[in-house]
Amino acid sequence: MPQLKELLVEQLQDLLHAEGQLTDALPKMAEAANHPKLKEAFEKHLIQTQDHVERLRKVFEVLGEKAQPKPCRAMMGLIEEGKETMEEGAEKEPIAADLALIGAAQRVEHYEIAAYGTAKALARQIGAVDAARLLSHTLGEEESADFLLTAISDPLLQQAAIEDGGDSINLEAVGKQGTTRTTKRSEKSETMASRGR
Ligand code: ZN
Ligand code: FE
Ligand code: FE
Repeated sequence: MPQLKELLVEQLQDLLHAEGQLTDALPKMAEAANHPKLKEAFEKHLIQTQDHVERLRKVFEVLGEKAQPKPCRAMMGLIEEGKETMEEGAEKEPIAADLALIGAAQRVEHYEIAAYGTAKALARQIGAVDAARLLSHTLGEEESADFLLTAISDPLLQQAAIEDGGDSINLEAVGKQGTTRTTKRSEKSETMASRGR
């Protein structure tokens, strides 16, 4: 097999195993999530991840190769850390637990974004246009999933910061005086919240 195609097949085998593991992990992450929007995001990404597995099978098919997974140890490690995050989250405040869970999930998405980017470049280089298109589709969904997690984390960060401020922040006084920084933050917080509705 030409070396570029062989490299592509190796990337796909790794991804097939990685995505397969995620279809098991995402329901647990959805269950662990406190905020309904985060739960919803994991549930939505589970359905997408099932599509990713199917799409990878199609890529193997158009390349005329067998869809054979090869253990992705990186994803095993990320999922292992995710489990730890969920266990530790049970002892944390709900917002802190969600923020930690988002951190774990974004590590996963970034790994996938890197892997699909590599696979897509290899497919393009060997002129496997259909394979490249399928990989590009999934890459876009991984990027949106990452973006959505950032959007969900924004208001949670704001809220956690307010909680951390405790007695030292007098919200009424802040509203009246309207210091630049605090005004910006509260405006942003409103925007994120209304955008989410
Ligand atoms: Zn995926
Ligand atoms: Fe891997
Ligand atoms: Fe993903």
